[in-house]
Amino acid sequence: MGQNDYDIHASLKKYFGFSKFKGLQEQVINNIVEGNNTFVIMPTGGGKSLCYQLPALMHEGTAIIVSPLIALMKNQVDAIRGISDDYGIAHVLNSSLNKTEVKQVKNDIISGVTKLLYVAPESLTKEEYIDFLRSVKVSFVAVDEAHCISEWGHDFRPEYRNIRTIVSRLGDNIPIIGLTATATPKVQEDIIKNLGINDAKVFKASFNRPNLFYEVRPKTANVDADIIRYVKQNAGKSGIIYCLSRKRVEELAQVLQVNGVSAVPYHAGFDAKTRSKYQDMFLMEDVDVVVATIAFGMGIDKPDVRFVIHHDIPKSIESYYQETGRAGRDGGEGHCLAFYSYKDIEKLEKFMSGKPVAEQEIGNALLQEVVAYAETSMSRRKFMLHYFGEEFDEVNGDGADMDDNARNPKEKQEAKDDVLK
Ligand code: ADP
Ligand code: MG
Repeated sequence: MGQNDYDIHASLKKYFGFSKFKGLQEQVINNIVEGNNTFVIMPTGGGKSLCYQLPALMHEGTAIIVSPLIALMKNQVDAIRGISDDYGIAHVLNSSLNKTEVKQVKNDIISGVTKLLYVAPESLTKEEYIDFLRSVKVSFVAVDEAHCISEWGHDFRPEYRNIRTIVSRLGDNIPIIGLTATATPKVQEDIIKNLGINDAKVFKASFNRPNLFYEVRPKTANVDADIIRYVKQNAGKSGIIYCLSRKRVEELAQVLQVNGVSAVPYHAGFDAKTRSKYQDMFLMEDVDVVVATIAFGMGIDKPDVRFVIHHDIPKSIESYYQETGRAGRDGGEGHCLAFYSYKDIEKLEKFMSGKPVAEQEIGNALLQEVVAYAETSMSRRKFMLHYFGEEFDEVNGDGADMDDNARNPKEKQEAKDDVLK
């Protein structure tokens, strides 16, 4: 079927109520509608879900969506159910379903009601499900968070590596769509190879966030005082402060509170009720600051986060990009400030020393890039985008003057110091 048989604009309006596509969505959707393998690389918030949801709703048969987290799948299923009168239009297939529920899901698929079937990769390996899915019409398989395939990604899931084999068992020529927000060329290669989609058309959006200001400051024994001063100078603004350890999170939150800053701690050691209480306090602006481990942030969409401070440097540039990416979602000011000391790098290396050699090698390589970012005297935006395989014009590019090095070039600074001497 050619793309002209579908009106994707009308469907966009009808199902989602949007009048325009975002970024590369339209091209991506046309490519999927044509039945091609497709690879989509877009930053978080870029609108990847719609790229497979819309074609799934338009196509005959059921699209299988592989996703790593039950919570993500449930959110999407609820959202899709909200746009339709058919409760069965989307389902999650996972181990928590009882026999009756599984039967209902199967019936909805057979009767053609179900357009999207979300599955965790470990459920997809179940023979019972494979047998069933072989017998129905699968429109395509979308692999969301596809970086989970790669050991070079930040969230490696071995089960993701079985997807290709299983899809081949489901039928011939079922198109595969891979989607990720991880832009490093290594991870992309792994995904394409592992999903067996060499012929896929690749759609890559820019990862530049021109409204974010990047800065690195040396981390000294006075880092807490530095952070307090910064937060006080930015009183009333929302911010996230990331620390490596739960202990540090609690200590720093307390230090801030004692100094009159409204702050809450957040880490995975708190029970669910406490976590959602603190999260809500931050979202509802009862407090300005959340001091957190990386457990905080996944799926959090506060548009006006004005600063993201790293008390401890993260273990990869991808993590840093993801975590700082939570600032300035509304397009307004977003200050990304990292405190850096080589001692912290050594600490992270030590953490890894108990792990398998292959994992250590990857971990160290990623860490060396973090060191290079922190110690570089070039445009930090250029460095980061180059890391993601993107060229950035540090003179005329969008956001070219938005980092410490761009504002205060080292050579010029040194030359000025010489003159002053
Ligand atoms: P990603 O998976 O790339 O991180 P999502 O699929 O979660 O991004 O989409 C991010 C947000 O963008 C969602 O709130 C979604 O409703 C919104 N969105 C997606 N496409 C459009 C569009 N064409 N117009 C307006 N909003 C959109
Ligand atoms: Mg997504």
